[in-house]
Amino acid sequence: MTLRIDNTLTGSKEAFAPIEEGKVRMYVCGVTVYDDIHMGHGRSIVVFDVVRRYLQHLGYEVTFVTNFTDVDDKIIGRANERGISALDLSEEYIETYFRDIDSLGVRRADIYPRASTSMPYIIDMVREIVDRGYAYPVPDGSVYFRVRRVPGYGRLSNRTLDEMRPTGRIDPAEGKEDPLDFAIWKGAKPGEISWASPWGEGRPGWHIECSAMIRHFLGDVIDIHGGGNDLVFPHHENEILQTEAVTGGVLARYWMHNGMLETKGEDGSMEKMSKSLRNFFKVKDVAAKFDKQTIRFYFLNTHYRSPLAYGEENMVEAKNALGRLWNNYRDLQACARGGASGDPDNVLPIIDSARKGFAASMDDDFNTCAAIESLFAFARDTNRMMSEGVLTREGAGAALAFYGEVDGVLGILPDEGGSDDSSDAVMSILVDLRQELRKRRQYDLADMIRDRAREAGYSLEDSADGAKWKKI
Ligand SMILES: [Zn+2]
Repeated sequence: MTLRIDNTLTGSKEAFAPIEEGKVRMYVCGVTVYDDIHMGHGRSIVVFDVVRRYLQHLGYEVTFVTNFTDVDDKIIGRANERGISALDLSEEYIETYFRDIDSLGVRRADIYPRASTSMPYIIDMVREIVDRGYAYPVPDGSVYFRVRRVPGYGRLSNRTLDEMRPTGRIDPAEGKEDPLDFAIWKGAKPGEISWASPWGEGRPGWHIECSAMIRHFLGDVIDIHGGGNDLVFPHHENEILQTEAVTGGVLARYWMHNGMLETKGEDGSMEKMSKSLRNFFKVKDVAAKFDKQTIRFYFLNTHYRSPLAYGEENMVEAKNALGRLWNNYRDLQACARGGASGDPDNVLPIIDSARKGFAASMDDDFNTCAAIESLFAFARDTNRMMSEGVLTREGAGAALAFYGEVDGVLGILPDEGGSDDSSDAVMSILVDLRQELRKRRQYDLADMIRDRAREAGYSLEDSADGAKWKKI
């Protein structure tokens, strides 16, 4: 099987082939840092974390860049309200961003460019676009992109130019040649943060920063460009225009877009979770109640392109379902410690089939939902073997090693990994001590050890082939 990606640009699933053998250059639009991230952001961040992890799992060397928009109207507005500088405000929310993605078990991107520290190459790109005749300055110091100069605008969102015509008020004083044209550079207004440019003091438009950062850090054309599907138009369409104006070629070969997180609105209908609708749940609040594995499982148990309903009941369901996998995982740990030693051959076909199921699902446009289904089948099969007493200590070890492989991609299993040496050692002392007490018929002390261990989160069980313990 080869990896296939549902490419928004072509509307079809295509076999993935990187530009450069063995390497993937990947960019995902980041957040505007004026508030804590909400679960809608969290979904996109976890989805692309898993995309990146799976590409690495397949052996690709991945360079993953995601940006911080730290210069923006909302940031300036919020900073003015609080009487602090725009960059101090964004710095504060970049810190909370990292705290929040840690609580989602997300691995750090390779590079996190910020608009404020990218000005030299943003300005260079604007200048190049102007020089090539694709953009023009207006009297207030802004620079507008001539949308009609690049053929094929709307190819990502399948819109015609008429459908994209802005419906809002058009201010003739802006000096725009065409209502479709958008600002790639904004002339400074009094009291706003600004940078010197060939067109006077100003700051970049939102779309240009991604084009400039991609070109600077990853090159003229990248393998994968990702983001939420609310960014397809106009943001990604405009990124394409800007980049093609200077490179003459495509910006990205595969465009991936995750579906929106939705919550129930006041009228009972589902609506997109967003800051503007004020119907969002912050990641930090959800993470205070649910562990990172549960949140990841909740996101990954639905295909990334589909809409996903959010409510606390959905999180509780996710926790319960994931609990079944964790039980199997911990039973396997107990078996790997205390089971009878022997040939692992009988479990190998089960592992092989689960591994193939996982790979086939992930290769099918990162279908994490189907991949998780194959893990549940694996759990059922190994549970059956354990209840029949036919899984050996070595077989359980092999099953755990398989879980370790797939969890490097999904990140939904307990953190302790294969074993924790210190608790392993202490627990085996307690198990032996308890066995000894039982031999001596000191059942009250043996029971006390069992009860206290349970309070501390470990269960001790007696079985035909000796005593076992596991985390509960
Ligand atoms: Zn972007």
